[in-house]
Amino acid sequence: MHIAIIGTGYVGLVTGACFAEFGVFVTCVDKDQEKIEKLKKGIIPFYEPGLEDIVKRNLKENRLKFTTCIDEAVNESLVIFIAVGTPPRGDGSANLDYVEEVAKEIAKNMNSYKVIVTKSTVPVGTGLKIKEIIKKNLEKSVEFDIVSNPEFLREGSAVEDFMRPNRVVIGAESEQAIAIMKDLYRPLYLIETPFVITDIPTAELIKYATNSFLATKISFINEISALCETVGANVNTVAKAMGLDGRIGPKFLHAGIGFGGSCLPKDTMALVRIAEEKGVELRIIKAAIEANQNQRERLTQKIIKAFNDKVEGKIIGILGLSFKPNTDDIREAPALYIIQSLLNRKATVKVYDPQAMENTRKVFPNIIYCSDAYSVAKDADALVVVTEWNQFRNLDLERIKKLMKGNLFFDFRNIYDPVKVKQIGFSYFSVGRP
Ligand code: NAD
Repeated sequence: MHIAIIGTGYVGLVTGACFAEFGVFVTCVDKDQEKIEKLKKGIIPFYEPGLEDIVKRNLKENRLKFTTCIDEAVNESLVIFIAVGTPPRGDGSANLDYVEEVAKEIAKNMNSYKVIVTKSTVPVGTGLKIKEIIKKNLEKSVEFDIVSNPEFLREGSAVEDFMRPNRVVIGAESEQAIAIMKDLYRPLYLIETPFVITDIPTAELIKYATNSFLATKISFINEISALCETVGANVNTVAKAMGLDGRIGPKFLHAGIGFGGSCLPKDTMALVRIAEEKGVELRIIKAAIEANQNQRERLTQKIIKAFNDKVEGKIIGILGLSFKPNTDDIREAPALYIIQSLLNRKATVKVYDPQAMENTRKVFPNIIYCSDAYSVAKDADALVVVTEWNQFRNLDLERIKKLMKGNLFFDFRNIYDPVKVKQIGFSYFSVGRP
């Protein structure tokens, strides 16, 4: 089977490379010429563990190719995935300009029956909108089907998530399209992956409901963390005991600086807007978004208050810039919020991240970029752990303490033992722990 993936970003590239690994012939299309030229040489434009090997292997075996020409890719493919970005507009709604542009391009180049699949996260109703766009822009009379196949992979473990997903969701109107999608995903059938076959609007909503629920879980425990701090309880123990309840589960129940990234912030806002347009108020999701903002602000204020509101001229070291470990993605990363707040108050900011420094340089060209955690600590008045990279889990804290000018240590991921850190002589601040 030949398939095309339009949009070769995090989702498009992982999807394309993994389908090629399953033995399918894949053409990945992107309008970014530089990206495509790099990919042709096996150079991955972002950091994602395990992806480079798969891309290189499938390039070599001619199952994976990269191009900027959508026409050829559409022509030779039975299934065409749309995997372009759906970034938030100013009002929080999803911007569908890229999706609609691609739908028109696909329509113009269709020469035979095609299954057109949205992998991008799109508001309910988009599948049917795409159908109309394609009908209107067809240059030949050909049959086609629309499918919604939302993606649930997580950056940082994207390959593993694609290869071993919790479920595959397929929303479709025709038996033929469902059969083709099942055939494409056959290797996942073999490992007994649950398939949810449904209609298109339901599939579209599953993705937003899932991400909004995950965001709500994080915000829930973060609000509990604020209460823990005032009543002298330990949020880690609260979360652990809650998570042992089979109805709740332990995942996404870690108190911290709050959710970021390219999905949870944008998808929660988009779902609120989708509902508002239909006259439905999603109070819980609105509250989860607000609680997330509060958590960022509350923890940033912890740093500022520890300096008695006088951070001007202070040297503050930030460990971790990406929104979570094992990615270089800094979209909506909490670290950016903290850095901007500190710069607004004229602090000097030193940073280190194992993968995300290049991306951060584009946002903050004038902060100090260091080669490791220890050079960040040198002469710093305070150190803040923002992203729980493995490299920061086992720091030599005695050495850090000697290198620092001050003794303030903010652990916004609760990765250290408060007793041990305090014994070394730090003034230690974590999230929701006495
Ligand atoms: P991305 O920004 O990394 O990639 C999008 C790509 O599409 C870019 O390379 C861009 O150049 C390309 N593009 C835009 N318009 C194009 C056009 N007309 N023709 C060809 N290429 C075009 O985005 P992403 O993170 O991969 O997200 C894509 C979609 O998948 C979004 O809807 C997102 O919500 C969803 N999603 C993302 C994740 C994630 O973890 N990143 C997970 C699940 C779902």
